[in-house]
Amino acid sequence: MHLARIHGTEEDKVNCPFYFKIGCCRHGDKCSRKHDRPAFSPTILIKHIFRHPEREAELQSLIGQQCKPDGRGDVDAFLDFFEDMYEELSKFGRLDQLVVCDNLGDHMVGHVYAKFCDEEDAADALQVMNGRYYDEKLMEVEYSPVTDFREARCRDFDEGSCCRGGYCNFMHVKPVPIIMIQDLEDEVNEWKRRDNEMRKRRQRERSPSDSSDEGRRRSNHGRRSKDRGGSRNGRSRRSRSRS
Ligand SMILES: [Zn+2]
Ligand SMILES: [Zn+2]
Repeated sequence: MHLARIHGTEEDKVNCPFYFKIGCCRHGDKCSRKHDRPAFSPTILIKHIFRHPEREAELQSLIGQQCKPDGRGDVDAFLDFFEDMYEELSKFGRLDQLVVCDNLGDHMVGHVYAKFCDEEDAADALQVMNGRYYDEKLMEVEYSPVTDFREARCRDFDEGSCCRGGYCNFMHVKPVPIIMIQDLEDEVNEWKRRDNEMRKRRQRERSPSDSSDEGRRRSNHGRRSKDRGGSRNGRSRRSRSRS
């Protein structure tokens, strides 16, 4: 159908192509085209949650303060942030993709998109995280229409040079080493395995009919899922207050 083909493209005079593809547009609520907000989605957007170092430096200089050097570079700080987000979000279910924007435009700065394998997990994450604080920032979470990040990403940026820089309206996705994502996936699989073990153990303990040697043997195993052991790879993790 013609209308279906032009939906969310430049030809579409009704629906905003930026909102459709990227989940945000620089005109925000004042956009002349429609932002068709989804009622459900496997993808949630946590708005402005990553503290972009360039933006932070601007804010600090506005209030006449020097940035506090904490001994870590911007890359390390970002990777710690990514790891933390990945772990927090994985508590709700398996992540398909986690994307942090490097853009500087007011409508995109610090945006984090999390696409879950299961839509229900995205709903749980939204419900729990929206309105909470992370790193002293209020989390504003919404469903995002973005399910195909290939359409949302800036191809020029991915190829190494975008002449629009941080103010580009397509996603400039901060790169994360693939090995780190694999490590995080392994870590999450390990918690899930322990959680399952613990759940089974509890069920057995609760069930009076289970007095078999196997049941008792199993109950001696399994560790609490929260006991995940301190930092991974010896990297320190900042503790943050959450309300
Ligand atoms: Zn728009
Ligand atoms: Zn770009």
